[in-house]
Amino acid sequence: MDDTALQHWVEAISLRDFGKPFLHQARFNRRLRTTGGRYFLHDHRIEVSPRHLEALGVEVMEGIIRHELCHYHLHREGKGYRHRDGEFKELLARVKGLRYTPTLPGGKGEKPFRWVLVCRECGQKAYRKKRMDPRRYRCGHCRGPLSLKEL
Ligand SMILES: [Zn+2]
Ligand SMILES: [Zn+2]
Repeated sequence: MDDTALQHWVEAISLRDFGKPFLHQARFNRRLRTTGGRYFLHDHRIEVSPRHLEALGVEVMEGIIRHELCHYHLHREGKGYRHRDGEFKELLARVKGLRYTPTLPGGKGEKPFRWVLVCRECGQKAYRKKRMDPRRYRCGHCRGPLSLKEL
């Protein structure tokens, strides 16, 4: 997924779950590590971690995007947009945004994954810290054969 696809995705989530358009910029930022997303007060942009999308999947990422859109819409409307604000908590619960970003497996500081198993049939990826023999496993999604790549 590239920045253009992400932009359309965020716009679609905003319309579908908030009933309001997202009129600013959304983009990926590889340097986000501890959080899956961030909202910027000064230019209203939203940045999203591609690592979180790769490791945690589309559904978790939608929850992260809804969380950032809560900041976005409340801030733009002059309402309580901080985590501790009642309006934020209420809206977050209503749109089913994620309260906290799930941590990426792998812990702090160290590189979370060194290896990725890629399904040769459907392209599904599974990240691993340790090297493993791809011939001994099958894709959890389609049972296809896997290949191993170093990250
Ligand atoms: Zn937040
Ligand atoms: Zn597969």
